[in-house]
Amino acid sequence: PFDVLVVGGGPAGAAAAIYAARKGIRTGVVAERFGGQVLDTMGIENFISVPHTEGPKLVAQLEQHVKDYEVDVMNVQAAVKLKPANGDGLHHIELASGASVKAKTVILSTGARWRQMGVPGEDEYRNKGVAYCPHCDGPLFKGKRTAVIGGGNSGVEAAIDLAGIVRHVTLIEFDSQLRADAVLQAKLRSLPNVTIITSAMTTQVLGDGHKVTALVYKNRETGEEHTVELEGIFVQIGLVPNTEWLGGSIAMTNRGEIEVDAHNATSLDGVFAAGDCTTVPFKQIVIAMGEGAKASLAAFDYLIRH
Ligand code: FAD
Repeated sequence: PFDVLVVGGGPAGAAAAIYAARKGIRTGVVAERFGGQVLDTMGIENFISVPHTEGPKLVAQLEQHVKDYEVDVMNVQAAVKLKPANGDGLHHIELASGASVKAKTVILSTGARWRQMGVPGEDEYRNKGVAYCPHCDGPLFKGKRTAVIGGGNSGVEAAIDLAGIVRHVTLIEFDSQLRADAVLQAKLRSLPNVTIITSAMTTQVLGDGHKVTALVYKNRETGEEHTVELEGIFVQIGLVPNTEWLGGSIAMTNRGEIEVDAHNATSLDGVFAAGDCTTVPFKQIVIAMGEGAKASLAAFDYLIRH
């Protein structure tokens, strides 16, 4: 059995694996797709001490760093079930292949995925104007016209954030009213360079083959279609944690985030969690890595006491 089995191979999982291996304990990583969301990222400019890098390059470096240690990496393997230890102190992680991996401690770092609009043009122009993370990509649209899709808290926060950087923000909400907290809505409405459009369904992302040029939405009351010319579209309709596979085995919020304490412990003894799949506030690479390191040190601490 492993001393530490990390489930997930994004920044949180890579950091957890390196910290565990450096303690000289038996460490394994199960990852459906090593690299996680970073693989889908173009420019990264907020990974502190590295002014600019690209997703695939950072993933190659993460992989190399992990391989510098004795870590058993099981890539392209999805975990489908967590069977908590009963009596023997070993948790079982069942894989889609049918295999089962045993470990004294488990670190869950299965990350999250942005909910997509599912409209024509969205995939084609991802990273070419279609973006999901205002903290990451906001500055790329300095002085340009953007839209935010979604009028919940994250959409309205994104619009307020962007309004300070970009020329103009159009906020598009499907419902007849915004769903964000009143204080955020008041702040948003006080900004001179924001237009709010409700009862609007985005139907298409338009581009010139290289980058986004406009979005099309339908007024849900009149059925009329409108085109908004712009350079950037931030989709803020939800970040979904990859935790469905855990079923009811562990305490989660109603949004599916694994509940963790300051030591990354979950509700299950010997099971820790880190990164975007948890309740940690703010989902970023530098944060996920710090959380992975923390979870690993906590797992080590657990092992020396058991
Ligand atoms: P992830 O990166 O989501 O990794 C999860 C890992 O778990 C993957 O290996 C996945 O395959 C695996 N996994 C999932 N389910 C299972 C399962 N059942 N079994 C086994 N393995 C599983 N952050 C920044 O700081 N700066 C940026 O510029 C930036 N830009 C971004 C751009 C885009 C397009 C996106 C999508 C995100 C961006 N982010 C950025 C956010 C950042 O990528 C995430 O916060 C970070 O990757 C989270 O790391 P993580 O390890 O928690 O999860």
